[in-house]
Amino acid sequence: MRYLGIPLISTRLFVRDCKRLVDKVRSRISDWRNKFLSYAGRLQLISSVLYSIPVYWASCLLIPAETIKEIEKMMKNFLWNCDESKKGRAKIAWSTVYWISLIPQFNDFQLHVLDPLVADKVLWRKRDGKIVEFDIQHVWNDLREDGQMVPWVHLVWFKQRIQRHSFILWLAIHERLNTQDRMRFWDSNKNLNCSLCNSQPDSHSHLFFEFPFSSLVWKEVKDKVEIKSDSFVWRNIVEDLQLLLKGKNIRILIMKIAFAASVYNIWRERNSRLFKKGKNMENKVILNFFEEIRLKLIGLKGGFLSFDDDVKRKWGIPVGEKVHDVFDD
Ligand SMILES: [Zn+2]
Repeated sequence: MRYLGIPLISTRLFVRDCKRLVDKVRSRISDWRNKFLSYAGRLQLISSVLYSIPVYWASCLLIPAETIKEIEKMMKNFLWNCDESKKGRAKIAWSTVYWISLIPQFNDFQLHVLDPLVADKVLWRKRDGKIVEFDIQHVWNDLREDGQMVPWVHLVWFKQRIQRHSFILWLAIHERLNTQDRMRFWDSNKNLNCSLCNSQPDSHSHLFFEFPFSSLVWKEVKDKVEIKSDSFVWRNIVEDLQLLLKGKNIRILIMKIAFAASVYNIWRERNSRLFKKGKNMENKVILNFFEEIRLKLIGLKGGFLSFDDDVKRKWGIPVGEKVHDVFDD
């Protein structure tokens, strides 16, 4: 696997991994082979073009000493004989050529030769130039493109979320749950019917929250947590909530937990009925997940300092003496 022409491997490079590097330098030399170039011209080529290739690799990876020697040999031959392979006599010993001191990169080159006394360590040069220990998370974050933040990100991925609820909500916002309208696309002969109301095949808009079972659940939830959105159309609800549920505030936090819980639990009940694992009525479903929310609130790291009495009363949360705020890290 390669990234920007460089092998992406987590261990150090072996000579065989560097074949491409050697080939690259060799093909440049063949391209530029030009008998009419003066020594100065060839030196210019070595320092500006040829040299940049291995330096680019060495900025990301340790290059084996053997490969460095091979590249140096090609460069020397090119400089003195206009060819990367032809044997010839160097006019001055490579290491004593005085102008090498004028091009400090030539000396740095030696730094990449492995020291047998020092344990190998794999490092990574990040996009900002910082060198860090190689670890998958650093490298992944460094390589991936930073996508544009979606406007509903705070509705789904907040710190106090219930993980499985957020995951289902995330799929639902992308409309990627396997609803029956999507399944029908694959198999048009299937006779599918919503397991909650039996009126038609289910879909995202049907489940969240247009039809009787769901609309009742959503209405109860909205009343309890005081969400002020009148819409029962899925996309409009998401748009309303992404504007309404901003900021760090215990009421908004509860609204976000309740929204994700509504979607999760309707989806769960739908599946439970569809796969004949059992059937709960709306009120039972609501009672179950209100209790889940209550337990979540009680278990929040830091305690209930940010809960006012109204919230405590509403959710049956005991009055406790805690010192930290829920939103503290
Ligand atoms: Zn239905």
